[in-house]
Amino acid sequence: MKGFEYLQDELKSMKDEGVFRSLVPLESDQGAKVVINGKELIQLSSNNYLGLTAHPKMKKAAIDAVEQYGAGTGSVRTIAGTFSMHNDFEEKLAEFKHTEATLVLQSGFTANQAILSSILTKDDVVISDELNHASIIDGIRLTKAARKIYKHVDLDSLEEALKESGEYRKRLVVTDGVFSMDGNIAPLKEIVELCEKYDALIMVDDAHASGVLGRNGRGTVDHFDLNGRVHIQVGTLSKAIGVLGGYVASTQAVRDYLIHKGRPFLFSTSHPPAVTAACSAAVDVLLEEPELIDRLWKNTEFFKKGLEKLGFDTGKSDTPITPVIVGGETKAHQLSDKLRDYGVFAQSIAFPTVAKGQARVRTIVTAQHSEELLQEALDAFAKAGKELDII
Ligand code: PMP
Repeated sequence: MKGFEYLQDELKSMKDEGVFRSLVPLESDQGAKVVINGKELIQLSSNNYLGLTAHPKMKKAAIDAVEQYGAGTGSVRTIAGTFSMHNDFEEKLAEFKHTEATLVLQSGFTANQAILSSILTKDDVVISDELNHASIIDGIRLTKAARKIYKHVDLDSLEEALKESGEYRKRLVVTDGVFSMDGNIAPLKEIVELCEKYDALIMVDDAHASGVLGRNGRGTVDHFDLNGRVHIQVGTLSKAIGVLGGYVASTQAVRDYLIHKGRPFLFSTSHPPAVTAACSAAVDVLLEEPELIDRLWKNTEFFKKGLEKLGFDTGKSDTPITPVIVGGETKAHQLSDKLRDYGVFAQSIAFPTVAKGQARVRTIVTAQHSEELLQEALDAFAKAGKELDII
């Protein structure tokens, strides 16, 4: 069909620049090993931190829910699409998170859009870390509030922004709990103290900390013992929780307000029963099987140390996300391709997702990996890294 030649031109230049990426279809479940093009590879690119995507209790909960309630819900939550299981799960999640209330949205992405677009007015200001996730950036684009960006995890820069914004009605500071490309944890205690000093609200996006940090995976707020001092926690149910969705954990007033004003909540159909039932089972798994989180962190330490010992630049990660920073885009893509030849699936990430000159292969270990598998992956990194003169 004619009419999209202008897109073809841009796609061609993306191909010429080497930034065009094809989708890679998996032919297996999201395990420690996955099947791609008929070949088994060690999976180091998923966010399935605890291996919950195929946990037997969650699969059973999903199947039972389909049997009882069907495959879909047929309506948005505010009209006829709220099932009692949606409300029950939100109550359970609020109890787990030690907050007054939660509201579940279709994804973490839309959770950020809903909260940021709805609770601020033109009399307010949002103050955001420069490396916050795209969904925060897009959410901020949707608000009428003024915006200020502070330097990445830089407390002086944040304090400056707070000092400069005294005239606004409300100030909302927003940070990722764990930054998704570098794996570093935000200095949340100090950020909260600054917010308290300047009477600002604080919001944390805990996408990569839910199920990973804090007691039983309660997140960054719990990790730093800050329960009751962070106004809004956004989390995802799509990564360590292993299913799909996002949530806002805050006060009853915020929940009620979002139900009326959060556009992605208002105008998009609710989660299918299988999704909600599996998410609910995941919270039980977090409470009943803390050994999964212990294994995740043991694997993290083993793999991170292994990469460092080999001489790779692994940046400043404190979490199971370990970037292998190689600099140039081409080098990063070459490393990823070679790793695939040697049995490892670890995707390269380049500009614009990370800054120019900071291209990397991002690795994420999970609780599912055995030490033998991780050693196999390290051997592949050693071989590929030497062949490409990275180490
Ligand atoms: N916030 C952060 C920090 C993320 O890394 C992601 C996922 N890439 C999201 C939000 C969006 O979560 P979801 O995949 O559930 O939409």
